[in-house]
Amino acid sequence: MENFYRDNPDIEFHLKHLALDRVVELKEDGFSGKDQYAEAPRDHADALDNYQRILDIVGEIAGRIIRPRAAEVDRTGATFADGEVCLAPGTVESLDRLKKADLMGFTLPREYGGLNVPKTIYGMAIEIISRADASLMNLFGLQEIADTICKFGSEEQKQQLLPRFSSGEISGAMALTEPDAGSDLQTVMLKARQDDAGNWFLNGVKRFITNGCADVSLVMARSEEGTAGGRGLSLFIYERDEHLKIRRIEHKLGIHGSPTCELQFNDAPAQLLGRRKFGLIKYTMSLMNGARSAVAAQALGIAEAAYREADRYARDRVQFGQSIRRFSAIFEMLTLMKSSIEAARSLLYESSKIVSIKEGLEELCEKHPEKTADLKDELKRYNRLAALFTPIVKAFASELANEVAYQAIQIHGGVGYTCEFEVERLYRDARITNIYEGTTQLQVVAAIGGVMGGMAMDWLDLCEAENDFSSVADLFQQAREGRQILVEAIDHVKTRRDKAFQEFHAARLVSMATDTILGYLLCRDAGFADRKRKVAQVFLLESRHRMAAYHAYILSDEDAVLRHHQDIID
Ligand SMILES: Cc1cc2nc3c(=O)[nH]c(=O)nc-3n(C[C@H](O)[C@H](O)[C@H](O)COP(=O)(O)OP(=O)(O)OC[C@H]3O[C@@H](n4cnc5c(N)ncnc54)[C@H](O)[C@@H]3O)c2cc1C
Repeated sequence: MENFYRDNPDIEFHLKHLALDRVVELKEDGFSGKDQYAEAPRDHADALDNYQRILDIVGEIAGRIIRPRAAEVDRTGATFADGEVCLAPGTVESLDRLKKADLMGFTLPREYGGLNVPKTIYGMAIEIISRADASLMNLFGLQEIADTICKFGSEEQKQQLLPRFSSGEISGAMALTEPDAGSDLQTVMLKARQDDAGNWFLNGVKRFITNGCADVSLVMARSEEGTAGGRGLSLFIYERDEHLKIRRIEHKLGIHGSPTCELQFNDAPAQLLGRRKFGLIKYTMSLMNGARSAVAAQALGIAEAAYREADRYARDRVQFGQSIRRFSAIFEMLTLMKSSIEAARSLLYESSKIVSIKEGLEELCEKHPEKTADLKDELKRYNRLAALFTPIVKAFASELANEVAYQAIQIHGGVGYTCEFEVERLYRDARITNIYEGTTQLQVVAAIGGVMGGMAMDWLDLCEAENDFSSVADLFQQAREGRQILVEAIDHVKTRRDKAFQEFHAARLVSMATDTILGYLLCRDAGFADRKRKVAQVFLLESRHRMAAYHAYILSDEDAVLRHHQDIID
């Protein structure tokens, strides 16, 4: 029987070595819930045991229920008739199993029926589910909506909605995008009007809304008439009624099980979430950062599935009298795929650990305002780290998923191009991960400030201070050399004081920072296992060449593209 948690020792490796003490302590508020809730952990070991049990259940449902239905879900897809969306039967069955296993309130507090599990563990669950069926993750992973209500909603809104989210009775959607507002969400125009009694009503169109047929949507709308920018936007809770028309669903390249809806709001009654004008700058940013981490985990799950398919095929396929896995071209591809997947996993867990600490600190300050002054600096640091790591991991994992799926088809040769093998679906499913929740280009825009502003260096310092690299000194020396050339590239761009030049090299600088962070993380992992030392060796060698090329390009001041692009493409 397949269990997608148990058959992947790398997840357990991280669970064991990730040093989640602070994360668990914050999430459990010093284990204060043990007297109130029978299922609340008594201490750190108990909490880890609990997480493992939860992941074991997720792994079993993924392997036994979700994966066997994924191909049929892809073929049938979600459908649309008479103004209503119908999920594929396999999607409904899989979701039903997840609900029955009480997995729909993963991170919500116990008082609202949730499991009170940290984001790091939620990320692991998302990876496991996405490996089985990436489209299902889009419905399972919409738990961010309940999380956002939990963070910013009133107590009444929380009581009214969160227990129903936890039980799986209701599902959510995140309605931000409009035909003319995609990457640039400041231009959202859907209108929110308030009547004399203070009630809000929504009017306008949203496009590309995953699960737009949901019972509850968080809708970003322009609440301040006559404004144009992000500060005129608020976020609303809309419970579905007859004032919403689903116009159509998209016919897409992949993730067929996940319905992508165009919605028309016709004077739809809604409740304000939190404060007016904070819709984009605070609540949506928080919602999207959660969703970006979830997409990174989704991408990792797809990459893991594609790697396994490729490896399985390469073992069996014989050409020129031997398994193709013995040809250098093939084993190199497999080795790089696997090393990069493990690198992405380290990055994802580090990133979600940072986010978990940030959120834990925020909750602590809310529950114990008297501690706020003491925690201010730490919270500021983790806020900035989260703002850097979230786009970095989203960009890295989603581009990697595409690359791995591409190579997986290559390793299959001709059959990889047919619909009989799973890799073609994985290739199609991977393609959305570097587009939604902000394209890779937008992740670069989000990350470059942190790279240029010193947050990457701050984390590298923190990592050096918290870890003993002496048992992997040779490898760590290489990682530090990477840091050195990153510093040189950043300094060079700063010295130029040229915004266009910085924008031109932004993707290269973010890539160099990502490689440097990954080098440190893999050295840290290498300290725990000999196999990880080899993974680090392979990754550092690859990344050294990549970084050297970017470093040389940046320092050369060659900017032919900047100077000639108009002559070439106009
Ligand atoms: C299947 C699917 C599901 C989705 N689900 C949801 C959902 O649930 N909720 C929701 O609100 N939205 C959802 N979306 C919308 C999605 O988030 C957007 O499509 C995405 O953010 C990109 O916006 P856009 O399509 O308008 O592209 P555009 O913003 O028009 O971008 C087009 C191109 O220009 C580039 N570009 C734009 N601005 C810049 C810049 N400043 N610098 C460099 N390059 C730039 C982009 O990278 C891209 O290559 C979904 C989309 C799809 C396809």
